[in-house]
Amino acid sequence: AAAPVTVLVSGQVHDHVVKRIADAFRLIHIDRPDPSLLSPQDIAAVRGISAFGGIDAAFIDAFPNLEIIANFGVGYDSVDAVHAGARGIMVTNTPDVLTEEVADFTVGLLLATLREIPKAEAWLRQEKWTKEGTYRLSPLSLRGRRIGIFGLGRIGLAVAKRLEAFGVSIAYHNRRPVEGVSYAYFATLRDLVEAVDTLVSIAPGGAATEKAINDDILKALGPEGVLVNTGRGSTVDEDALAAALCDGTIAAAGLDVFADEPNVPQALLDAPNTLLLPHIASASVVTRRAMADLCVDNLVSWFAGREALTPVPETAHVKAR
Ligand code: NDP
Repeated sequence: AAAPVTVLVSGQVHDHVVKRIADAFRLIHIDRPDPSLLSPQDIAAVRGISAFGGIDAAFIDAFPNLEIIANFGVGYDSVDAVHAGARGIMVTNTPDVLTEEVADFTVGLLLATLREIPKAEAWLRQEKWTKEGTYRLSPLSLRGRRIGIFGLGRIGLAVAKRLEAFGVSIAYHNRRPVEGVSYAYFATLRDLVEAVDTLVSIAPGGAATEKAINDDILKALGPEGVLVNTGRGSTVDEDALAAALCDGTIAAAGLDVFADEPNVPQALLDAPNTLLLPHIASASVVTRRAMADLCVDNLVSWFAGREALTPVPETAHVKAR
């Protein structure tokens, strides 16, 4: 019989990914992307990798027989997919199966940020309701807001559809306008924020969006401005954001993602009117399970000699062997 395919799992990934890989392949599990944790024989044997990000060019190049990297998550900015594509290595991600979950969460984060839901609950739990009276009227509201979506892709569009039901105006910025949608399109992020007071970012990370939400953008968003980010922390200049919150340049921020996770800058923890969450937008049992299945289904399809199910655009040209 042919030797089983060896698949490397790097770092902490979902248990169901590990279990299914162990069932279908020969599994090697290392706790960080460091080839020196592997014997030369194992390095030569690895044909697939599954990871939750953290795959750079040097790590890819360490494996001479690598064919496919199955990223757990739709965002793959921490996988060097351009390099993989140039070497003929497939990269897959987990689109669609998390879209509705992340969109639900993004709307929840927006509402919780505007109406101070966590702070109001703390008021109740700290017995201030009984001792000091009702919680303050929230200065911010969704009523009358003009929403700008940065990244009207799969998730951004699902957010926009939900927000339509709230009766707020919706505009967006992408590099290209989306066909068939009626929301106002702005060709630059700067033009978008000039026109709105609420920026909902669900844009991907990577060089093209690095610190796109900077001091200038926050100023243009204005003193009633609210930023909600469920995309990637790298898209925000966090120092500028903390300063903008402290000096009233904008009014509030709800953040699920940070530039250097799990580290959250002290300036953001100290800033007023922030709702900070530990990257949980897709993190329900049902959705993470669906992501795990899609992640492994890509490996199963590939090693059965079929195409990858959800290749990223940078490696769409790579064919099954
Ligand atoms: P899509 O690829 O469908 O959407 C990305 C959108 O961003 C597209 O509309 C794209 O339009 C736009 N975009 C990309 N690059 C730029 C740029 N440089 N400037 C302006 N617009 C840009 O991805 P999804 O909607 O499925 O996911 C979006 C992101 O959400 C993921 O990459 C991930 O980072 C994040 N995410 C976060 C989660 C969390 O737990 N917080 C969970 C899931 C996803 P165009 O190409 O025309 O520019």
